[in-house]
Amino acid sequence: MEEEVIDQNSDIAMEDADRLIEETLEKYERYVNPGFTRFMRLLGTTLEVKTEGTYMYDVYGKKYLDFLGGHGVYNLGYAHPKVVQVVKDQLDKIPQTSSRLMLNKPMADLCERLARITPGDLTYSFICNSGTEAVEGALKLARAATGKSRIISTINGFHGKSMGSLSISGRDVYKKPFEPLVPDIHHVPYGDIGALKASVTNDTAAVIIEPIQGEGGVICPPAGYLKDVRQICDEKGALLVLDEVQTGLGRTGKMFACEHEDVVPDIMSLAKALGGGVMPIGAFIATPKAFAPFEEDILLHTSTFGGNPLACVAASATIDAILEENLVDQAAEKGTYLLSRLKELKDAYPNLVTDVRGKGLLIGIEFADEGMVGNVIYELEQNEVMVLHMLNNQRVVRLEPPLVIDYGQIDFMLSVLKEALEINNY
Ligand code: PLP
Repeated sequence: MEEEVIDQNSDIAMEDADRLIEETLEKYERYVNPGFTRFMRLLGTTLEVKTEGTYMYDVYGKKYLDFLGGHGVYNLGYAHPKVVQVVKDQLDKIPQTSSRLMLNKPMADLCERLARITPGDLTYSFICNSGTEAVEGALKLARAATGKSRIISTINGFHGKSMGSLSISGRDVYKKPFEPLVPDIHHVPYGDIGALKASVTNDTAAVIIEPIQGEGGVICPPAGYLKDVRQICDEKGALLVLDEVQTGLGRTGKMFACEHEDVVPDIMSLAKALGGGVMPIGAFIATPKAFAPFEEDILLHTSTFGGNPLACVAASATIDAILEENLVDQAAEKGTYLLSRLKELKDAYPNLVTDVRGKGLLIGIEFADEGMVGNVIYELEQNEVMVLHMLNNQRVVRLEPPLVIDYGQIDFMLSVLKEALEINNY
């Protein structure tokens, strides 16, 4: 007799799927993290096995429409064929650099592209492996370039969890156990230009902010804020570092979110979508003036794996795909549509939804309470749509789908969301 197969998208029998999940949970429990395992068991979690386009498939063959986008990684959707192909080709040639004694063409090609697509005179790139590394490097460069130590960042900002990035991030719960953190870092409320002005002194090395706070709850600053921040930095001789790890590469309907206000930073950090969802990679890009310390001492900042050819070819192909497929404009248009439809839902359920906001396809839905967020995430998951809340604001559900999502899929998510709101409207 044939074994029961739960879904046509999976060739794994139901009992095998159950066993695979249990085996994986046991390994998590023994070798990864027992606390995390307890949490996953509570969630009634499943096992991801396949991705395609804008869909994630679990071990039962259940197909999830991805409105989470790997927290900003999957701008191109999953496994974009061109990105996958260049990585496969590179794998057969030279996957990692042999040493730093010879030239690495994939890295040079990527740095050229980054200089072309970033605004103003952002020119030199340092390639690393993640968002937090990109921010760490930017922080170090800002101090070295100015010879000053004071750094201003914002409350509720998120920049990563290594020591420097954590120190500038703005949520205490992640910071307290690791104190003392990096000194001379000062936080001001995001979007409050008066507070920022009061805090930036002549001794300030840099102001480091996100152009839109992502994990803070998709907080868009008031119009003109970034321009004013730029001006204050110029007046005080401080560098402006913009963390575009989440907002960069088309996500907000511009190639970089700072372009909504025509502001050019001295240093920009990138990661997440840069590897096309295929390879991990980060980068920080600086103006020649800001980059000077790394030019003078070429060993001041280094990374063994940073700039590896596999990640670099993936990033170059990602940039090419974003340009060729016009994903920046697509994000702007689809985002405008999605936001307007969400505003209708907000008006229809004012006691549940307190705000909808965002730019392009970085959108947050703010709920009246955190419990409601859990219910809505659960209902969407039951209807095969993946969403999640923000790390620093658990009342906000993020909608951050691949930029290649289509209007039919957007409408499907909206109908499922409407049902979820209706169920919770008592
Ligand atoms: N900066 C921003 C704005 C982010 O959103 C994140 C991650 O969410 C990071 C930095 C850290 O990136 P990573 O998790 O790759 O270290």
